[in-house]
Order: sequence, then C-alpha cells, then structure tokens
Amino acid sequence: MGARILVIEDNPANRMLVDYLLRAQGYEPLLVDNGADGVALASEHRPDLILLDIRMPGMDGYAVAAAVREQAELRSTKIVALTASAMLGDRERIAAAGFDGYIQKPIDPERFLSQVEAYLPVWEHAIQPKAERR
Ligand code: MN
Repeated sequence: MGARILVIEDNPANRMLVDYLLRAQGYEPLLVDNGADGVALASEHRPDLILLDIRMPGMDGYAVAAAVREQAELRSTKIVALTASAMLGDRERIAAAGFDGYIQKPIDPERFLSQVEAYLPVWEHAIQPKAERR
C-alpha cells in the first residue's frame, strides 16, 4: 500500500527523478507541475505527504503551503520542501511557513527514500517490490 504522496514540482527532470525513485520503492505518487493544481489535488486526495518545490512560477511553495495549512482536513498532511537554497534564512522561512522539513536539491538518489520516509510513520512505508532495498 504505502503512503499517498503528492509531488508538486515545476522542473520536469526533478519530477521524473522523484517519480522514478518513489515508484522503484513501491509508492504510487501523484505528480503535478504547478502550485494551483497541487492545492486542488491535495484537497481532493488528502495525501499523507506533499513534496513541494519552493521556486515555481505563479503559486510558489510558500503560497501552496499556506493554502494547504488553511484546510482543516489536511492538518495531518506532512509538507516537505524540495529546495536548492537551504541556507539559514530559507530554513527559518520554511519552518515558519508550516513546512515539516526540507530535502535539499540536487536530489541524492542514494539518500532520497530515507529522507522521504523520515516524514512517514513506518506503517505507511511502501512494501518495496525489489529485494535490493538499501
Ligand atoms: Mn522550481
């Protein structure tokens, strides 16, 4: 089964990489390339976790996080920033904006799954189809 994960990321290469890494582990993520559609999908599907790019045209990650946090039914949804600019100021801003944490870009394929699953209870981890799990 596994957690319901929504990925909101405007960069196609990052989106494909995240999709690949999650699917290889047995997750079936929802993916979207902009913030407005991301908020709509979050309302509709109530994901356990949102992996949210910060820098996007239109609605950026901060605006998406604020919109998600306004919805009572999404209170338990974890929001994790995907950001290349995890410097001190951004880290504080991310924490203040209602994010549960961040994963730094560029994404490290070796570490990504453990970074993601740190935000999920063990019983929501996917049952991986492959034996060679790290
Ligand atoms: Mn971006």
